[in-house]
Parts: sequence; structure tokens; C-alpha cells
Amino acid sequence: MTFADLLRVAPGSPPDLSAVAPDSTPGFEGNKAEARERLKGLRGELADFQERLWAESEQSLLIVLQAMDAGGKDGLIRKVVSAFNPQGTRVTGFGVPTEEELRHDYLWRIHAATPGKGRIGAFNRSHYEDVLVVRVNELVPEAVWRQRYDQINAFEAHLAANQTRIAKFYLHISRDEQRRRFEKRLTKPDKHWKWSSGDLETRKKWDEFQAAYTDALARCSTDAAPWFVIPADRKWYRDLAVAEILVEIAGQMSPQWPQPEEDLSGIVVPE
Ligand code: AMP
Ligand code: MG
Repeated sequence: MTFADLLRVAPGSPPDLSAVAPDSTPGFEGNKAEARERLKGLRGELADFQERLWAESEQSLLIVLQAMDAGGKDGLIRKVVSAFNPQGTRVTGFGVPTEEELRHDYLWRIHAATPGKGRIGAFNRSHYEDVLVVRVNELVPEAVWRQRYDQINAFEAHLAANQTRIAKFYLHISRDEQRRRFEKRLTKPDKHWKWSSGDLETRKKWDEFQAAYTDALARCSTDAAPWFVIPADRKWYRDLAVAEILVEIAGQMSPQWPQPEEDLSGIVVPE
């Protein structure tokens, strides 16, 4: 079984998040040092893939990252997404919508940030916030957010039908691990900047968020755009698992070097 097979949410079946141990390491027997060593090789493969993708310029890859606060989205971008050449890769963070964004439908800002042909896009939060924080904090009526699962599936199917491969990762941390990471933010001066007191309000609603995540993963893990649940208490496993899945997807996308438009064999570069 590949990492993708182990961690993919089967379309239509609600994942039992409480049954996925956030400190588990499915599919990997090794220790942290071994995982870090293996990640180096995977990063090389991702870099090669990205160069071919860029050269071919026919397909796009969209990586969607979601997690509870302190779940490790930023760390994953630093450790894994950084394997891709920055020329050709765009990371977009989605925060509280601006006034202008609120004057549009919720997918407007999302669509504008999707990767073009040959490009890779990584979303640090995404349109899923519109069925997560928006649902839990009752920012729109239920009748409005309930329609969004189908809308999101239609949107993602549309992207997929237009050569954008989508991989969505839910970084699954435990409540205890979140407390430890928050405490670091409070006690270590170089982490203070990450502290946001609003995160405590969100922590109080842990169970509501887990329920909202369960619905989003169940309703929106499709063949065109699967969700993966990544046990993420151990950062080294998180990085390894996501990199393994991306390498698998890269193999399926298999971008090809384009054929030169003319015969290059007889060309001589003058002195
Ligand atoms: P951070 O990722 O720590 O920079 O925080 C971004 C904040 O923006 C989080 O609290 C998100 O819940 C919030 N956010 C992102 N998207 C939305 C949205 N569509 N509606 C409301 N809040 C959002
Ligand atoms: Mg934050």
C-alpha cells in the first residue's frame, strides 16, 4: 500500500478523525533521522518533477493545506513545498476576507490564485474555511454553507477537467499537541509573533471544528480532488507523508520534456 492509499479519505465515507492517532506514523517504520534522510531524496524527485512540469507547460498542481491552529501548515511549506523552484510556484495564504473579497462569491479569490499551466500552487488555508470557520462561527446562515460542499466539488471538478491536479491535506494534530505548540508560542521569544489570542477562542470550539472537518472531508474527498488525513503531531512524519504522496502524484502526472520545434542536430553555435 502506498502512502496515498493509506491516508486518502475514501469518497463518500465520513472519516473517523477520533480514530486516527495524530502521533501515529502509518506506512513508516523508521525514526526521525531516517525520515529526514528519506525526505531529502523525495525533495530531489519533487524538484525534478517541477522542472518537467514547467517545461511541458500543460498541467498544473494545486496543493491545499488545512489544519487546526498550530497544525503545521507553515512548517510543511518550509520543509516540503520549498523543494519546488520558487520560479513556477506560488504559495497563497487565505485569511479573513477583505471588504472587496466579501463583495464577491467566496470562490472568487480562490479561483484567482489557482496555478496556471506548468505551475504549482500551494494554499495555506483555502475555500474550505468557508465550510469550517464560517460554519462554526456562524458567519453565514446554515442554508448558505450547506450548499457549499456541492459548489466546492463542482469547482474542483472544473479545475481538474482543465488539467489542474488537486491534492488536499488535512494536517491532523491532537489537542495536547496544540497546547504544547501554543505554550511554545507564549514562552519562546522567537515564537511570540505567531501568537494570536483569537486562537484560544478557536481552541474552545475544538469539537465543533473536528465535526466541521469531518463533514468537509467526507463530502469533498472526490476522485478528482482527494483529501488526505496526515497524522501531524510528529513533524518529521507529516513532512515525509506529504512528500511521499506528492511524489506519487508527480509520477501519475508524468510531465514530458517538450519536443523541440525544429531539428536541433545540425545547429552549430557560432564562435
Ligand atoms: P492565519 O492562517 O494564522 O494567518 O489566520 C488566518 C485567519 O483567517 C484564521 O483565523 C482563519 O480562520 C481566518 N479565515 C480564513 N478564511 C476565512 C474566511 N473565509 N472567513 C473567515 N475567516 C477566515
Ligand atoms: Mg494563526
